[in-house]
Amino acid sequence: MPDHVANQIAAGEVVQRPASVVKELLENAIDAGADQITLVIKNAGKTLIQVIDNGSGMNAVDARLCFARHATSKIKQADDLFQLQTKGFRGEALASIAAIAHVSLKTKIATAEQGVRLVIEGSACTKEEAIVMNSGTTVTVKNLFYNIPARRNFLKGDHIELKHIIEEFQRVALAHHAIAFKMVHNEADLFHVLASNRRQRIVAILGAKTNEKLVPVHEETEIVTVQGFVLKPEFAKKSRGDQYFFVNDRFIKSPYLNHAIAAAFEGLIKPGYHPGYVLYLSVPPQTIDINIHPTKTEIKFEEEKSIYALLRATIKHGLGQFNIAPVIDFDRDATLETPYAYAQKPGSMPTIEVDPGFNPFANPESKAYSQRSAPSEREPSWSSLYVGLKAEEDFQSIEFESDEVTGQLFDTLEDPAPKICFQIQNKYVITSLKNGLIVVHQNLAHRRILYERFLRRITMQDGVSQQILFPQEFALSAAQTLTAQNIMESMDSMGFVYKMNSDGIILEALPLGVPQHEAKDIILSLLDNEDQQDPQEGFSQLDVMARALAKHMAIKSGQILAAEAQEHLINELFACKEPSISPENRPTFVTLDSSDFDKKFN
Ligand code: ADP
Ligand code: MG
Repeated sequence: MPDHVANQIAAGEVVQRPASVVKELLENAIDAGADQITLVIKNAGKTLIQVIDNGSGMNAVDARLCFARHATSKIKQADDLFQLQTKGFRGEALASIAAIAHVSLKTKIATAEQGVRLVIEGSACTKEEAIVMNSGTTVTVKNLFYNIPARRNFLKGDHIELKHIIEEFQRVALAHHAIAFKMVHNEADLFHVLASNRRQRIVAILGAKTNEKLVPVHEETEIVTVQGFVLKPEFAKKSRGDQYFFVNDRFIKSPYLNHAIAAAFEGLIKPGYHPGYVLYLSVPPQTIDINIHPTKTEIKFEEEKSIYALLRATIKHGLGQFNIAPVIDFDRDATLETPYAYAQKPGSMPTIEVDPGFNPFANPESKAYSQRSAPSEREPSWSSLYVGLKAEEDFQSIEFESDEVTGQLFDTLEDPAPKICFQIQNKYVITSLKNGLIVVHQNLAHRRILYERFLRRITMQDGVSQQILFPQEFALSAAQTLTAQNIMESMDSMGFVYKMNSDGIILEALPLGVPQHEAKDIILSLLDNEDQQDPQEGFSQLDVMARALAKHMAIKSGQILAAEAQEHLINELFACKEPSISPENRPTFVTLDSSDFDKKFN
């Protein structure tokens, strides 16, 4: 078989799509010790993929050799195979890429006066020249699969191929926080991250909103060091989108260890949801086997069972530390109060017809909002999480809201005397009940109210938007433009009507009630939110947008509310279909009854 045919066949294993090339080139740059790496992409990699690094570079001889199959510089003897610290070691990436694309290489080592430039076509070097350049390497890959039309036609649309590339880029950038990365697509900067610590890197790559979601975990033992973050349970998703697992700085898929992480979250997230995490394991290289898969994202550990147990315990501990406050502590995160009966319900889109005759206060026979649902089912996992941290009885007093709710709570509001509402910390609205108090989280409650209102408008399609007198134009990044185009239709049915232009959008109409001076902010946050959403998550785009819009427009914590506004908020909340939880499944209110007070005075 001629060499170039063998290369083409082998290439198929290494290079499935533009993103595979990106991965190999980025990893080579890292192996070369670069601390600044730039990725340049055109047309989702179909036209151009270029990686520029400031690493070790190659001398002219190595530069010529590196395109030969098995030309790795990383394994000199069999023993090396068991001590791998580098990403690549098979020595076939560059050979494979050169077999199916037009490749050029520029490279210079620090001690050389000049660098060298090579052009490779059909696996053969067609040009070699000396050039002036900085130390490092630039690999340019053009016209991927130019000689295999079947493969080229098999590529997906630009949007999808670009997503894959971004995914590879993100994995590499997350694994190497001390390296500065830049990614440019069609002349627009998609990412530009400087050397930083791990937390900053995660936030820079996964989005500013990630910061508040992170719970640190840390453990060091002889067999493994675990570092990184898990996402708070409330941010669990139906998809596995936010799961990043690195072993010795390499992105890895490990269903087994993923299971350990899920086990640590047991009882804290709804069935069918997956926890998010960015975890970094370090293990001695000779105790792992990463050579079991051509794309090398799977791994075998010698000490699999111990690592499983350790990972699970470490994460449980991390989660426990982040929230050990019992009972009602106004500053704590509401995550752990998510009602569990709700978890059993299928994630259906809330229906929105509103019964105008519905009076939340009119049914004294039915169960109280605050009634607990099947506490025995929940408590074992709760208490096990907190064993040794807090007295068991503290957990008995956590108030869970059930979703099987209706009136009794409010029967006293039938009382002709007007109820007095008041605000504390400009954050909670409190009013009295026959038997105690209700504490409403003003922001979360308002999100629920707005969310149901938006859904209602969307489904009824009634007079959702108001035209803007002078269409408002604003520029977007390339990534934002892509998203804006994709969600145009859904935006339209929400009431945001816009046209695309060359560098952004022209806004023509807004949903009723959205002030024009906030329009840009809102749209940007919707685009941002959409980007963080996983399409497989199962929520409809409209639902996701209604949640995001509600979140953006809701009364904030810290906002002073007039007495009537407080009362209005409570009334509107209890006219909702699901008043007890926010669109993000956090409780919107808690109740305290006299027995809670009795305990305090014991
Ligand atoms: P592998 O990474 O598995 O060794 P590759 O085909 O990816 O195989 O690369 C072949 C060789 O080319 C590497 O072993 C390395 O010596 C050299 N090389 C590739 N890219 C670079 C780079 N960006 N800087 C310096 N050397 C490189
Ligand atoms: Mg390599």
